Amino acid sequence: MTKAPKARLATAWLDGCSGCHMSLLDVDELLLTLADRVTIVFGPLVDAQHFPESVDVALIEGAVSSQDDLRLAQTVRENSKFVIALGDCAVTSNVPSMRNSIAPTRLLERVYIAGADTQPGVPLENVPKLLRAAIPLHEVIKVDLHVPGCPPSAAAIAHVLTELLDGRKPDLSAVAKFG
Ligand code: SF4
Repeated sequence: MTKAPKARLATAWLDGCSGCHMSLLDVDELLLTLADRVTIVFGPLVDAQHFPESVDVALIEGAVSSQDDLRLAQTVRENSKFVIALGDCAVTSNVPSMRNSIAPTRLLERVYIAGADTQPGVPLENVPKLLRAAIPLHEVIKVDLHVPGCPPSAAAIAHVLTELLDGRKPDLSAVAKFG
């Protein structure tokens, strides 16, 4: 019997703490099933430099906080059939949005100048430019599914991936809740 082709899965890490990626790794034995059914083509779990074309499912962790985040979110959307906002930072902007009441310039000066013990100065080279505010993913790209939680439970992630791989749209009502 010929095996079905593996689905192409990508993950992306925007402004988040990587806890959502850790939760993805917590799916335990499902990892073995995934290894059989999925090829991970991009993200912190693999060594890929550029986001590839023709991705089936993309999981995005984190809020959109910088120009780099924005570019990566748009690239993911352009090249992926199904995009998931994974976790509260991607869904609502959550923890990263705590900075939103302070203008980025003031914030950077507070951290890198007022808060510096040595060599005060805001780093300008090779640092992604902050957006005015950290914003949820759906404000910049179309999102196909929101998976809430900080982090989302491994059970919720396992449910979502299994349902998608089986060709169904996941119903999150039994495994996750908003708020
Ligand atoms: S939702 Fe929670 S676990 Fe996920 S990146 Fe944000 S703070 Fe970390």
